Amino acid sequence: MSTLREIVKLNQEHGTFTEPSAFNWDGRYRIPTSKVAVAWSPIGWELTFEPYKFIDEDENGNEIEYETGEGELIPDRQGRIAMHMVGDDHVEYFDADELVLIDDDEYCTCCGQIGCHWN
Ligand SMILES: [Zn+2]
Repeated sequence: MSTLREIVKLNQEHGTFTEPSAFNWDGRYRIPTSKVAVAWSPIGWELTFEPYKFIDEDENGNEIEYETGEGELIPDRQGRIAMHMVGDDHVEYFDADELVLIDDDEYCTCCGQIGCHWN
């Protein structure tokens, strides 16, 4: 599975897009810190590996937490946003405050470029 599809799928499974959020997942964004003037679309939180743990007690009755060595990838709600370049498969990660919401008529729906007037 591609990174893009895996990010979308896991974020869907974990309810990222339906839970109340200050972030507009449906919006298109430009990224002033990026050199390319294209529109980006958010696809979910960056994934992070969460190890499975179990809790045991030592001989004095103190709880000890162990990692099993296994785990799963989950969306990191404290993390960065995975952004997909419109018109491409390219995925990069940015902090939410690096993103600037744009209007639909500010970018080309064909190639994703800001300033292209194809449509
Ligand atoms: Zn265009």
